[in-house]
Amino acid sequence: MLYDVIIVGGGPAGLSAAIYSSRAMFKTLLIEKNGCGGQMIVTDLLENYPGFNGGINGFDLAVKFETQAIDFGVKIVYDEVVEIKNGLVKKVVTINSIYESKTVIIATGTRVKKMNIPGETKFMGRGVSFCAICDASFYREKEILVVGGGDSAVQESIYLAKFVKKVIILHRRNELRATKILQERMLSCPNIFIMYNTVPKEIIGKDYIEKVTVTDLETNQDKHLKVDGIFVFIGFTPMVPFISGIAFDEHGYIITDENMRTSIDGIFACGDIRQKHLRQVVTATSDGVHAAFSAEHYIDNL
Ligand code: NAP
Repeated sequence: MLYDVIIVGGGPAGLSAAIYSSRAMFKTLLIEKNGCGGQMIVTDLLENYPGFNGGINGFDLAVKFETQAIDFGVKIVYDEVVEIKNGLVKKVVTINSIYESKTVIIATGTRVKKMNIPGETKFMGRGVSFCAICDASFYREKEILVVGGGDSAVQESIYLAKFVKKVIILHRRNELRATKILQERMLSCPNIFIMYNTVPKEIIGKDYIEKVTVTDLETNQDKHLKVDGIFVFIGFTPMVPFISGIAFDEHGYIITDENMRTSIDGIFACGDIRQKHLRQVVTATSDGVHAAFSAEHYIDNL
């Protein structure tokens, strides 16, 4: 079957593209590696997505997006895309199949960045976590570290503080990157403490984490912190399947114009995977809509 539009990735950008493309009666396939929703599904409360006063749970919003796309007729396949081959007919190669389409929209997003320190891999799931919603309840009344100084680190610390006895945020600089509203909210959590100019060096333990060696970057002194867990929120790296000839920026994000066109005709990119300044659910949805509209325009002019 020749599709009009194949969307790779089922986060907010991909699902928004799917809603618009299938509603416009284009034969639309969405291929998702895991489950739809992307990083939304591990977000406890989205309080800046318009229309939901008081906020909405990320998983609930993801289900709404997916249901809306399915209602308009998108077909969803769960598989991993490993390569996109260009041509008048584009070929999307997955682990299990090859799909053909007139256009492809890449909405593969990003994955969490790791610290790359000794012990990180060894204690994954046994003290090292990248998801507060998934793991907070394992740390009731315990002491934990949060690494990072951005919106994720602060927002997730506020969430974790409801469960744990003490949160220590380790940040490598002397001021946080997180927005002021989140920082102010954090101040009202008496069990959150911040260690500035400090980075984790090594995670130590037998079966589970027992302590973390941290380095004070001002004095270059190491010390041990006795904690039960370490939650890592130090940003994201892009996830792109192999595509010969597509233009990336120096960090590996796909370069597009404002209509989500990449350097390859008929291939579009939207959401966190593209080079841009603001990565939010609302900007991802807007990108997805632009990408679907551009794909329709491209097909109409074939
Ligand atoms: P981010 O903004 O890239 O922040 C990453 C943080 O980790 C920075 O503070 C950075 O330090 C630190 N860091 C990076 N690499 C490190 C390393 N190797 N070791 C130690 N620290 C390291 O990532 P994010 O907080 O995940 O946010 C990503 C995007 O999602 C942002 O656009 C953010 O606004 C958005 N977001 C929004 C909300 C919200 O609106 N409520 C919530 C979550 C995320 P430096 O500051 O020194 O670079």
